[in-house]
Amino acid sequence: MIREECGIFGIYGQQEAARYVYLGLHFLQHRGQESCGIISSDHTSLYKQIGLGKVSEFFDEVKLDYLRGSQAIGHVRYSTTGSPTLVNTQPLSAMTSKGPIALAHNGNLTNAMEIRRRLMEEGQTFSTTSDSEVILHLIARAPFQDIVQSTRWALAQLEGAFSVLVMNRDTLIAARDPRGFRPLAMATIGQAITSSAETYVFSSEDTAFGIVGATRQREISPNEMVVVNHGGVQSFSILETSPQPRQCIFELIYFAKPSSRVFDTSVYQYRYEIGRQLAKEFPVEADYVVPVPDSGIVAAIGYSNESGIPLSLGLIRSHYVGRTFIEPSQGIRDFGVRMKFMPVPEVIRGKRIVLIDDSIVRGTTSRKIVQVIKEMQPKEIHFRVASPPVKYPCFYGIDFSRPEELLANKLKTLEEIAHFIGVNSVGYVSVEGLFPSFLLDGKRFCRACFDGEYPTRVSDVRKESFDHEIQQASLR
Ligand code: SF4
Repeated sequence: MIREECGIFGIYGQQEAARYVYLGLHFLQHRGQESCGIISSDHTSLYKQIGLGKVSEFFDEVKLDYLRGSQAIGHVRYSTTGSPTLVNTQPLSAMTSKGPIALAHNGNLTNAMEIRRRLMEEGQTFSTTSDSEVILHLIARAPFQDIVQSTRWALAQLEGAFSVLVMNRDTLIAARDPRGFRPLAMATIGQAITSSAETYVFSSEDTAFGIVGATRQREISPNEMVVVNHGGVQSFSILETSPQPRQCIFELIYFAKPSSRVFDTSVYQYRYEIGRQLAKEFPVEADYVVPVPDSGIVAAIGYSNESGIPLSLGLIRSHYVGRTFIEPSQGIRDFGVRMKFMPVPEVIRGKRIVLIDDSIVRGTTSRKIVQVIKEMQPKEIHFRVASPPVKYPCFYGIDFSRPEELLANKLKTLEEIAHFIGVNSVGYVSVEGLFPSFLLDGKRFCRACFDGEYPTRVSDVRKESFDHEIQQASLR
């Protein structure tokens, strides 16, 4: 099971800004459920509320009333570096000689440890174990008084993945790293985008704009920093020369909502086309195409339409499983999977099933799902995967398992993988198949978890060593 990363949402120029961010974060909740937070500004002070749990669990009227002002940034988090404690919950904030600064960050930096070590040697103290904190310190230490110049100076030193929202009392900055690993889109409420007196909204995914009545304008470009303040909206480059973008293809495969457009591509259309491609590359005779809900649904529709095999919902997902549930003391085999997926006997019994999912990482969840289906006595199960085998770890903000735990690393042939999962056959879409013609240019995408070709230096960021070193350096 892949665990998600983070989502960020910000707004400038709207009364009750924090309540708008609260709504926006609801629509980004799929990107992180461990913690959430909002920082607002009324142009005199910053106001902060952060906590563990989902947005609807943590925030209440009292907390939202506290968050005054017409600009705010928010964050939902699943920790990919640093532990899931309150201290790492974002947005982060600091009092600096330039006034209070707040930061919300999605992505992982690949040179955070290097910068952290250097700053510590210079006497800087750190209060979190998150890689994001180095951004805040760099902004504070930049040789400028102005927040815009300071932020640009700080971002230019970073390597790896960052979509960020930076805010002080009267300015909001939205930026994407030069490779553009993580998405970030911009919208407006009200008048035309050239006006200086309207509301600007930023979100990891544009599907969150609808709930606040905002109209999508465009994506923040890789290597772009957009600044909004009383003077209107301005755009800057972070680096003088833009490198080749490497947007994360896994955002399209799995993370983003099918209702979103990320990297100027419809997530729904993308998954549908990959499902069709999968049917072309790995056809099989079967009675039903069955998606693993929710992640495999759109690809399964594509597979079904291309193959002519009818789609049927042979697995129903429970959406009412809370964060914690109590298991009988005797233990039930595959309890977690049984809580989540309920097989439909009428669809499965005696049938040949093509089971579709978006990806296989460790393979343990896939194996458990297959076990649950097998109890309904299908005739055959053929597993089809709408992404290539995941063989390499991600250092840009996605929490895959350690390399030695990745199924495609341990088992080399499709037959071995089919045997491990317990199905009649397995097929993965090819790396070439991930880039249908409407994506225009496959070179704009990172695919390092499939082919091991990382677009940045990663020598400093073997995840284990980062976590280990941080833990050694943190208070116990
Ligand atoms: S390594 Fe994979 S998951 Fe990580 S950024 Fe690249 S494509 Fe995305």
